[in-house]
Amino acid sequence: MLALTVQREAAGCAVALRELPEPSGDDGDILVETLAVGVCGTDREIAGGRVARPPDGRDWLIIGHESLGRVLEAPSGSGLVPGDLVTGVVRRPDPVPCQFCAMGQPDMCENGRYTERGIIGRDGFASERFRIEPGDAVRVDPALGLAGVLVEPASVVIKAWEQLDRAARRPHRRALVLGAGPIGLLAAMLGVQRGLEVHVVDRAGCGPKPRQARALGAMYHTSPEDVTGTYDAVLECCGELISEAIASTAPAGAVCLVSGDRDLGATISLAGLSHDLVHRNKMIIGTVNSNRHHFQAAQEALLRADRGWLEGLLTDRVPLREWRSAFTINPEQVKTVIQFLA
Ligand code: BGC
Repeated sequence: MLALTVQREAAGCAVALRELPEPSGDDGDILVETLAVGVCGTDREIAGGRVARPPDGRDWLIIGHESLGRVLEAPSGSGLVPGDLVTGVVRRPDPVPCQFCAMGQPDMCENGRYTERGIIGRDGFASERFRIEPGDAVRVDPALGLAGVLVEPASVVIKAWEQLDRAARRPHRRALVLGAGPIGLLAAMLGVQRGLEVHVVDRAGCGPKPRQARALGAMYHTSPEDVTGTYDAVLECCGELISEAIASTAPAGAVCLVSGDRDLGATISLAGLSHDLVHRNKMIIGTVNSNRHHFQAAQEALLRADRGWLEGLLTDRVPLREWRSAFTINPEQVKTVIQFLA
């Protein structure tokens, strides 16, 4: 079968489409035919030679952690039958397990010995077929169509809002989302579903980003300087506007950093930060990954959204053979999806 892999090389990493044997039974009892995988910032970082760790004893890894597939084989009692659409939970618990992994919350793993499909220590889903354990396969409602591939990124944002809800000391009325990529726009969608006044900031002045934000009923700004007032909940979804995010947070409000590590040129004044945290009771929290419960909540939220709006997030749809174009960055695009079956 064909699989999209990343291989460690002396000069970094190389992504390649290669012919591999059928998936190993060790990956799980459910056999899935891949329909599509989404490509995100993490995948592009992997392609750029960062983040990924192949399984032990190998120097290559099948990538892809945003999946949509159709079940080909499922054992009885698995809760799935051939023909069901599924997506895969990404993280697997550490072997210890830590207190969180033991509770089915590997997204909160405290010792860092977890693995992640397509990212850390385990093959991902970007192969014509993959296997998965029943407990990590989440059934996707066919009503979502190709937008079922958004369940994983939406689950990450569901967890971000959950973290904000836990931190909240003031009711959420106004929310600010920094970055209008897939994560930012899904964060805005969830904010609107919660009945909040949502503002979105991204430098894209035209194209699908402003169109999608405005279609939600959110206010769209092309610079953080255009944003006035403070916000009860702030979601930093681009990794570049952390100090602006903190400055825009209301007293007793919370900011959640959703984007991964970036090389931030900017420095932040610790005196200013401690003033915000102490005298204004602001909270800064971070979030990563998501567990099965977040996947289920994500699917419910996507089913409440307008289907045409969700389709509008899938701006770049690339056939498997043209996978290379999925790794070029166009700042106006939202979500790139590699389609395995038309
Ligand atoms: C994925 C998460 C993962 C994180 C760090 C994100 O792109 O959506 O599931 O935990 O990368 O590896």
